[in-house]
Amino acid sequence: MTEPVRTRIAPSPTGEYHIGHLRTCLYDYAFAKQQGGQFVLRIENTDQKRYSPGSENRILQDIRDYGLTWDEGPDIGGPFGPYIQTERLNLYQKYLKQLLDDGHAYYCFCSQERLDKMRETQKAAKKIPKYDRHCLHLSPEEIKKNLDDGQSFVVRMRVPDNQVISFNDAIRGKININTKDMDDQVLMKSDGIPTYHFAVVVDDHLMNITHIFRGEEWITSTPKQILLYQFFGWSVPVFAHLTVLLDPSGKGKMSKRKGSVSARSFLDDGYLPEALLNFLMLLGWNPGTNQEIFSLEDFVKQFSLEHLHKKSPIFDRKKLDYINGIYIRQKTDGELLPYFKKFLHAATDDQLAVLIPVLKERTVKFSDLKETVRFLFDDVVYDKELLLKKGTAPKVAVDMLAKTKALFADFSDLQNRITNLIASNNWNVGEYFMVLRVAICGVAFTPPLVECLPALGQTSAIRKIDIALGLLK
Ligand code: GLU
Repeated sequence: MTEPVRTRIAPSPTGEYHIGHLRTCLYDYAFAKQQGGQFVLRIENTDQKRYSPGSENRILQDIRDYGLTWDEGPDIGGPFGPYIQTERLNLYQKYLKQLLDDGHAYYCFCSQERLDKMRETQKAAKKIPKYDRHCLHLSPEEIKKNLDDGQSFVVRMRVPDNQVISFNDAIRGKININTKDMDDQVLMKSDGIPTYHFAVVVDDHLMNITHIFRGEEWITSTPKQILLYQFFGWSVPVFAHLTVLLDPSGKGKMSKRKGSVSARSFLDDGYLPEALLNFLMLLGWNPGTNQEIFSLEDFVKQFSLEHLHKKSPIFDRKKLDYINGIYIRQKTDGELLPYFKKFLHAATDDQLAVLIPVLKERTVKFSDLKETVRFLFDDVVYDKELLLKKGTAPKVAVDMLAKTKALFADFSDLQNRITNLIASNNWNVGEYFMVLRVAICGVAFTPPLVECLPALGQTSAIRKIDIALGLLK
């Protein structure tokens, strides 16, 4: 019987959840579901220095808000808990002792000053900085004495010399790394808390994780972790190191300095969670067909390790906008209502009933809405020249506006009545609508004007025309 597939996402609560992590989470989820397995969420918080208070809960909420769920995790528990590393501290001791007893790890009592000096000397000699094994050959008596004296210590892994560690990455194929440049990694820090490298291996093993998806920045750490699996005689999970997401500028990976990168910021910006997930699906994987739109269910069915990309994708925001638009248009007006309410909180329900069917056809992301319909809530200042943008003579513009104002005395059947008004006056249609558009909205580019007028209302529409007439005097 083959073991059930178990994947995990292991966020560190060090700040905002990065969009790249969300992609990893999506692939973890899809693979586990597709294989009828489980998807585990574990909080990796052993690096207390980088801890950002409250971020674990925010990360969980971010993942939930994208519609991804886990089968085991800190909030719901599960058979392999606890799912927060600092709640597992007693578990690691046993395994550390085993490594010490077997000679795969050793106590290191070196002071920070000594280590700093050593590093400087190595750097000056153009050598790769790594621990010089000063404490590797301490006698059992010396170790005991130091421990009895209460000397501060860390435990280091004894990396074998000149050994090639190989693993078969599910995306990149065979990877070989020689141990000769590898540092004797600290496994347990002086405060008794394990390092990531040690805790991750123990936890992935104890939680029966079979497949590890993570970013390619972890590739160089993998041999250290494989060594630990070997020391313990544990079976090594399948590793799949995903590509980094590249900034659209073509200059390196996506980073905060070049725009928003947190998973949350895309929701705040008015992207639909399912559209963003769809975009992430294609950012590192392809179905082998031209299909572009995938529900989460479709993706779970079609996801395959074979179609994961080796080449880093560009985070193309235009493509994201395009996909978001498709998802917006697939929604019913009722489904869109909560989003419109959130992003247009000044709008009344009656206004939204008018606006949603008109705007959904052209909305790229919800955060644009406020600007799109600013004219409903604010009077914008504009130049008289804008009213005459299409070369309309001021006299004609005044005539157009005055007659439209009179027409607005009755606010029914506006579309037909305006069409008739233009025809009977022989006005140029383009000119007329530019004059009216600018008068009402203060800008030259707007959503379909006449369709939006009921949301503006008769009184405001007339007032705006008066302002424009005032400008043209
Ligand atoms: N805690 C690590 C991170 O936040 C997880 C790395 C891994 O998946 O092994 O990236």
